[in-house]
Amino acid sequence: MDRRRFAQLSALTLANMQVRISGQSPDSSISPTRRVGIAAVGLGSIAEVFMHAVTASSNARITGLVTGHPAEKGTKFGALYNVPGNSIYTYETFDRLKDNPAIDAVYIALPNSMHCEYTIRAAEAGKHALCEKPMAISSAECRRMIDACRRANVKLMIGYRTHYDATFRKLRELVRSGALGEIQAYQGGFYGMRNKQQWRLDRSLAGGGSLLDLGIYPLNTMRWFTGEEPESCRGLVATRDKSGAFPSVEQSIDWMVKFPSGILGSGGSSYAQSGTNFLTINGTSGHLRLEPAFVYGDVILKYTGTAGDADLSGSGPVYDPDQFVSEATHFADCVLHNSQPSTPGEEGLADLLAIEAIYAAAGSPIA
Ligand code: NAD
Repeated sequence: MDRRRFAQLSALTLANMQVRISGQSPDSSISPTRRVGIAAVGLGSIAEVFMHAVTASSNARITGLVTGHPAEKGTKFGALYNVPGNSIYTYETFDRLKDNPAIDAVYIALPNSMHCEYTIRAAEAGKHALCEKPMAISSAECRRMIDACRRANVKLMIGYRTHYDATFRKLRELVRSGALGEIQAYQGGFYGMRNKQQWRLDRSLAGGGSLLDLGIYPLNTMRWFTGEEPESCRGLVATRDKSGAFPSVEQSIDWMVKFPSGILGSGGSSYAQSGTNFLTINGTSGHLRLEPAFVYGDVILKYTGTAGDADLSGSGPVYDPDQFVSEATHFADCVLHNSQPSTPGEEGLADLLAIEAIYAAAGSPIA
C-alpha cells in the first residue's frame, strides 16, 4: 500500500467515526447545544489531566467536584474551574449529586476497587458515568455496573483514551485493510511506575498488579484491532524484589493469548522493570512497530514498518492532553445525542474477563 492510499484510508476512518458519533437521535432531557456538566470524582493525577482537557472540549465543562479533601483540593480546583462551593462534594455527600441539575455526569478517577461502587451510586443518582480503566477489579463488578447504568438509563463509558487517538485509529484501519497480509501475531509491553508508595501496590485497592494498570493497554489494543476475544490465555508472574515492596501484587507479569482466528498475542508489564512501551504487529507480508505507544503527555507516537514492498512510517502528536480532549468530547457527545459510547461498559468487561483468565492461568487468581 502506498502512502497516498494509506492517507485516503485514514481520512475514511475519521469520516466514518464522525458519522457514527453524530448519527443518533437526541436525548430529550439535554439540549444538544449546551455543554455537558461533569463532576470529577477523586482529584488525583489523572483527574487533573482530564479536567484540564475538558476545558479544551467544545461540549463539556467541569461543574462539580468530589473529594475527600474539600478544604484543600476542593478549594483549589473549585477556583480553577469555577465550581461553586455547593457543587463540591465528599464521598459521604456523593449521593446528593442527584439534586444538582448542573451535573449531568461523573468522571470516576478513583483507585480501581472504588470504580464499581461510585459508578453504581452515580447511576442511582441519575448521572451518566465515564469511568477510568480498568473498569473494575472483577468481571462480576463490571456486570453490576453495566446493569445499574442500564436500569437507570444512563451512559457508561470506560476511559480507553487510545480509542480516541488518530494514530491508533489509523493503524487499526491499516491492519484491518489487509495491507500487512494476514495478521499472525501482536506483541506489546508497558513498564514502570513513578511513585511506589501508593494504592497501586495494595491489592485491596488495585485489585491486582500491573496488568490491570499498564498491561491492559496492549491487551485492549489487541482485542480492539483483531475484533476478537481470546479463546485461551497463559500467564506467568514473578517477584524478584526482596525488600517487601510487593507484599500483595506481583512485580512483573508476562502473558500470551490466542484468538479464535489463530492470531497470537503476547505482552508484559511491570512496576519495577525498566522498559519502553510498544506494540508490534506481524502479518504475512508486512509488519508495524508503534513506540512509544501507550504513554500520554508531551510525547509523539511513532510507527515504522513495511507493507509489501513499501516502507511505512509516521507519527502522531499526543501533546498533553489531546487524547483526553477527544475522549471527553466523545463522552459528552454521547450524552447530548443519546448515542452509544465507542468504549462502553462491555469493553471494560471483556478486558476484565481476559485479565482474570490470564491471572488464573498464572496461578495467581484475582477474582
Ligand atoms: P491517584 O493516586 O493520583 O489519584 C487517586 C485519587 O483517589 C486521589 O485523589 C485520592 O485522594 C483518591 N482516593 C479516594 N479514596 C482513596 C483511597 N482509599 N486510597 C487512595 N486514594 C483514594 O491515582 P491516578 O493515577 O489518578 O489513578 C486513578 C484511576 O485512573 C485509576 O483507576 C487508574 O487506573 C486510572 N488512570 C488512568 C490513566 C489513563 O491514562 N487513562 C492514567 C492514570 C491512571
